[in-house]
Amino acid sequence: MNIILLGYPGSGKGTQAKVLSQKLGMFHVSTGDIFREELAKKTPLGVEVAGYLSAGRLVPDKLVLEVLKARLGAETRGLLFDGFPRTVEQAESLDAWFESRGQSIDAVIFLNVPEAEVARRLGARRTCSGCGKIYNVITNPPAKEGTCDVCAKPLLTREDDKPEVIARRIQVYKDQTEPLLAYYRSSGVFREADGSLAPEDVAGKVAAMFPGKA
Ligand code: ADP
Ligand code: ZN
Repeated sequence: MNIILLGYPGSGKGTQAKVLSQKLGMFHVSTGDIFREELAKKTPLGVEVAGYLSAGRLVPDKLVLEVLKARLGAETRGLLFDGFPRTVEQAESLDAWFESRGQSIDAVIFLNVPEAEVARRLGARRTCSGCGKIYNVITNPPAKEGTCDVCAKPLLTREDDKPEVIARRIQVYKDQTEPLLAYYRSSGVFREADGSLAPEDVAGKVAAMFPGKA
């Protein structure tokens, strides 16, 4: 099985992908996490994508596809994409790639959250520097301020969760990613969940899309 999560930055794709991939035994593919990892390790790819990430702009399609093919070529589990595809061109490339492997997309899940809500969430988001767990200082704060409940490492504000960059990311989503809704709506595997609910309620709705599996 292969699944795509779609939605605004801040719609909860990362949070839901972690839960769902575990329930379904799938490989969680977050292109954002991949780029941040490369950046942290200062690899040539990391250096190349740094400017795009900090500005809230998309990494060029060609680079995204190269890194994904390199990482996923040998993966045998089902793939759960979070943050990819982000352009119609990426979606077309993914279709072609799956077709060449005799695979297809089983579900595209759109996490629907109003724009005002995602802007609010991104401003309040903190990410654990150790294990990557995501917090929200308003709705889901850690027990001890600035410290991860799970691994006790410091929580950080992602560089692209600063106000100027948030506005850019929202605009980039509207311009380049939103057209994917129409692209997938006609595919027959399109599903939608109310992403404005609490994370565990969204997880329940999404799990209900896979009866007997999740
Ligand atoms: P969010 O969905 O909250 O914006 P991500 O972690 O998915 O966060 O992405 C962070 C950044 O990584 C994006 O703003 C972009 O620069 C880059 N990125 C991630 N995925 C892609 C992609 N599929 N295509 C182009 N750029 C990407
Ligand atoms: Zn942690």
